[in-house]
Amino acid sequence: MISFHEIRKAYGDRRVLEGVSLDVAPGRVTALVGPNGSGKTTLMKILLGLARADAGEVKVNGTPLDATGSYRNAIGYMPQAAAFPEHLKVRELVELVSALRAGAARDTDLVESFGLGSEWERPVGKLSGGTRQKVNAAIAFLFRPSILIMDEPTAGLDPVAAGVLRTRVRRERDDGRLVIVTSHVLSELEDLADDVAFLCDGLLRFTGSMGQLLSQTETSRMEDAIVTLMRASANGTAARATPGMAAAQ
Ligand code: ADP
Repeated sequence: MISFHEIRKAYGDRRVLEGVSLDVAPGRVTALVGPNGSGKTTLMKILLGLARADAGEVKVNGTPLDATGSYRNAIGYMPQAAAFPEHLKVRELVELVSALRAGAARDTDLVESFGLGSEWERPVGKLSGGTRQKVNAAIAFLFRPSILIMDEPTAGLDPVAAGVLRTRVRRERDDGRLVIVTSHVLSELEDLADDVAFLCDGLLRFTGSMGQLLSQTETSRMEDAIVTLMRASANGTAARATPGMAAAQ
């Protein structure tokens, strides 16, 4: 379980998160959605220790995040665009990451499913965008993390590779792992996400299951539901957070 409690964050005058409280459950895929600039990445960076909240607390399995960052060993992070050292070969990159997590079990299933063996001796800087994204995904899954954070995971992947990744995410979920996915491609989240957290103007405007989202907005597609929530937010009549997944504002 990950619990965000009253998280606040501003960059200068720009107040990005204005008291965000959210519980994210294991064994579920949670979609974190919201308009561009709504603070999704900032919230994930605070969880990862890459940004510091101005106020509030994050707990992972009941333990507040500590300065040593040891909790991060439990997290596999797939950033939107991974900044790998360009000159390293794929093999060297995987070896480097493995050395940083010495002793941890290795899971090379995605390396094989994506056929990365044929790219093994190529420098990362020479890979196509899609192949880089496959490497990015394979590394996030490499140590069977109990928590997976994925930012626009299928961006740049061909449909076959995107399908491989989605199948893998579902398997992790079914194995009890906690998965948070952010994406602008709502149609692909629709059949992946169990729960939805909708962030807008610094506040969570909806938290609950996908079924609750659709029924509450009286829509049949996630995209329509999110548009409905965005209109409601703009009108100041945001949908009330549902009790299912999380306590929001
Ligand atoms: P999202 O992921 O929802 O698109 P972000 O969390 O990336 O949103 O950004 C939220 C807001 O915070 C944006 O207005 C963005 O410009 C601003 N922001 C993000 N990171 C920084 C930073 N390091 N310095 C200043 N402003 C930032």
